[in-house]
Amino acid sequence: MVLIRFCATALVSTAICNLGQVPGPGTEPPGAICVACIRAHEEFLASDALRGRGSATPDELTAATYVAAQLRQYGIDPAGDDGGYIQRATVVRQKFTGPPHLRIKTKAEPIVWTYGKEFVVYFLSQTQFSGPIRKVDADKPETKIDSGSMVLVVGTDRAKIRKTAMSMASAGAVGVLVPATAQESARFRERGKELPTPPVRLEDQAGGSSGSTLNVLQVSAQAAKVLARLPEGTKITFGGPATAEKSYTWNAVGILHGTDSALAHAAVLLSAHLDHLGIGRPVKGDNIYNGADDDASGVTAVLEFARVLGAGPKPRRTVIFALFGSEEIGVLGSVYFREHPPLPLNEIAANLEFEMLGRADAAVKADTVWLTGWERSNLGPTLAEHGAHLVGDPHPDQNFFTRSDNYALARKGVVAQTISSYGLHGDYHQPSDDISHIDFDHMNAAIGSLLAPIQWLVNSDFTPKWNEGGRP
Ligand SMILES: [Zn+2]
Repeated sequence: MVLIRFCATALVSTAICNLGQVPGPGTEPPGAICVACIRAHEEFLASDALRGRGSATPDELTAATYVAAQLRQYGIDPAGDDGGYIQRATVVRQKFTGPPHLRIKTKAEPIVWTYGKEFVVYFLSQTQFSGPIRKVDADKPETKIDSGSMVLVVGTDRAKIRKTAMSMASAGAVGVLVPATAQESARFRERGKELPTPPVRLEDQAGGSSGSTLNVLQVSAQAAKVLARLPEGTKITFGGPATAEKSYTWNAVGILHGTDSALAHAAVLLSAHLDHLGIGRPVKGDNIYNGADDDASGVTAVLEFARVLGAGPKPRRTVIFALFGSEEIGVLGSVYFREHPPLPLNEIAANLEFEMLGRADAAVKADTVWLTGWERSNLGPTLAEHGAHLVGDPHPDQNFFTRSDNYALARKGVVAQTISSYGLHGDYHQPSDDISHIDFDHMNAAIGSLLAPIQWLVNSDFTPKWNEGGRP
């Protein structure tokens, strides 16, 4: 772990550093971070008492309620449901109670295939879907298909088949059928022992995560031959016995109204996600996935920004503080927020999401954090010009830009990007992502170094823009 000389950042008075004391809330110079507050947020949010803040569980609500209480204390106004900070969304957890089937309509008897025999599931967003078959050759790929088609992708090159399958899904296929090799087909029975689990979705949304309707099935080599002989347009239906259970997920949302009416339609949204993986499979006797880095650290950062901005003179721009539920199961909280924002989306000029700032990334300089999708907009470079120790994401192959809440907003046009210092550590999504692995010197320095650039942003006329081709 890289150690940062936090006291050298000049954001904490040298006297405090020299004394070696942890400054308490109220003892820090105005506009500086509060080291004790950062530690206190982490110690509560990442504690075993919160049981890993499982997505859409009462533990997530406890985290949201804690955040709401802090926002109240900091002088941030509520912007959730019914005059409070909490925003509640209904989620639906679908579960198969028996193996699903594929039914193929033919002139004679319909063909019925069973999950784990003739096909398995790669990815599902729905428990029922159907459409006319459309055959696409991955070696001679076409991009135009009728939306709602069930696309069978054939070809000789596995990589090309995979690529075509993905492009067909985004071109509007309701389902994509990919042939398995003989070896893969031999493992179907084993894979079929466990029923597929469609992702949890928001009640008012058709698809799964981010409204996606991606369904990809793998069919046995034998079944693929049968499909290849069917006339184009033959109706194929997927479905099985399933239950749908409703529960809730919670966001905490606050707002600090800006003073400059000329900037009334250019608010800044600072966000992070409250939830993590909850209680899960034990590793070395520990079954609590505390998520101290992912993403108690991001929530802590947003709370610190709220505290400082709430205490100082009111900013010119309106600032929204949103802490989202159910990020880990498909960015559901941020999608709900996007559909129920406190201001119209086109009045939010920028969104900065904070993810995993609790440890330093050895891939960048010691006192630096990075921004996902750096080259997509002028937001990162402009923040860097104004003092942020911010560079481009050094792990572009990880596609982090699309892997957090910012993406739900970016897809609707908001210049929305994530700031992080996640160095691909081995405790990611493990019970060991706990407080003992947080590098507080780094975290204090990271949050501290972003304070002044954020204060500049919320008081500036600068409206970030997507670069050409940068908008997703
Ligand atoms: Zn995260």
